[in-house]
Amino acid sequence: MSLKKSANRQNNQITALVANQAGEIIELDGYASVGMAGPSLVPLSLGQTRTIPHGSELMYLPDRSPVLFNLGTHKIETLKENPYVPGESIFPVAAFNSPGYMITHVSAYRENKKARYLPLFSYGAVGWYRGHFRSAVIRVDPEARQDLRQMKREDVVAGVEMVRKHMPVNRLRAHLEKCALEYGCPAGKNFFLGRFEAPLPTAKQCNARCLGCLSQQRNREIPCSQDRIEFTPSPEEIAEVAIAHIGRVKKSVVSFGQGCEGDPLLAAHVIEPAIRQIRAKTKRGTINMNTNGSLPDTAKRLFEAGLDSIRISMNSVRKVCYEAYFRPKGYGFSDVLKSIELALACEKFVAINYLNCPGFTDAPQEVKALLRFLKIYPVHMIQWRNLNFDPLRYWKKMNGITRHGEPIGMENLISRVRKQFPKVKHGYFNPPKENF
Ligand code: SF4
Repeated sequence: MSLKKSANRQNNQITALVANQAGEIIELDGYASVGMAGPSLVPLSLGQTRTIPHGSELMYLPDRSPVLFNLGTHKIETLKENPYVPGESIFPVAAFNSPGYMITHVSAYRENKKARYLPLFSYGAVGWYRGHFRSAVIRVDPEARQDLRQMKREDVVAGVEMVRKHMPVNRLRAHLEKCALEYGCPAGKNFFLGRFEAPLPTAKQCNARCLGCLSQQRNREIPCSQDRIEFTPSPEEIAEVAIAHIGRVKKSVVSFGQGCEGDPLLAAHVIEPAIRQIRAKTKRGTINMNTNGSLPDTAKRLFEAGLDSIRISMNSVRKVCYEAYFRPKGYGFSDVLKSIELALACEKFVAINYLNCPGFTDAPQEVKALLRFLKIYPVHMIQWRNLNFDPLRYWKKMNGITRHGEPIGMENLISRVRKQFPKVKHGYFNPPKENF
């Protein structure tokens, strides 16, 4: 896609971006960008946006029409065609923002008839102001853990060759090579670069059926964005990768539970001995697990083996909304809460991976439930991660379950949490134990 220049600058509102039929992204003179959060539509200003984070990607949304603010009439409008080129269709444009940034608004649009599901990304509002793209995001983590500027391909290739020499027959190492070199996975790259956190994918299966699962979809309209691991590495293979990473990285983290696998609690039979092997060799490094938290007894075994921290994913702290999104098989929301309780009782570091979508996460009902949840379950950290799912379909699904009021705003939500729970950390990445 390319950007065709035009010159619309009015007050401090950011100029709308749309895509034309050729997929080119253009500024639309006389219109400002609009952010959407459930029922609320907001013309976006400079103060509500920031220069788009490096590494973010712009996307256009097929089968949809942009909702924009007409600077002449001061009205919000849905545009079916380019007002300057009658008959030419235009499409909404959204940003898939870099890790570490939480979206405050979704790009505003309406679906056309026969619109299909959007692929599994988040669709942040975006605009243009004086030569720069602007994005409706808040930076929630200052760390450059997944900053692509620090992951040069030649360095990754050199790391791959070096690691291959050290562990030539390890299947997990070979799997991570593919992740780093073919899929461009930043977690995989970091393992070969010897930075921060290394991924330890292990699980072929899962006991949930998340609407937005990246690695397995039953909804044929939605393509998976990641291939699920097809084998279970042995405890020895897992330990070899983890020990190598811990040995070469200061404040290292090694993490079970990645986007390319099922849930690691279902692979505890290899993870538990792997953790014991790692801990028999070194006390250094943080062993972390990203999970749905469905099996508290299994989690307990892993804590006893030496797991240091756990990050539990949830789209909502309300049972009905959680279960409508995760669609658990053989467990319930109460098991997730039990895992959190248990982890806290075992004095482990507990984070929630709070999959947020403006308009739902900042709806008064969810805000109230979150504040209550934090009082009962004093988790150490909230990781604010953008939900990768078609936002209009998500709202429809959640509103079909229970009523949601006018959102209070994502910024407002975070400041309420900060005020009432000043000890809770906010971020995006799993911290090393030195920072617990
Ligand atoms: S818990 Fe993870 S692996 Fe399991 S269905 Fe949900 S997203 Fe997919």
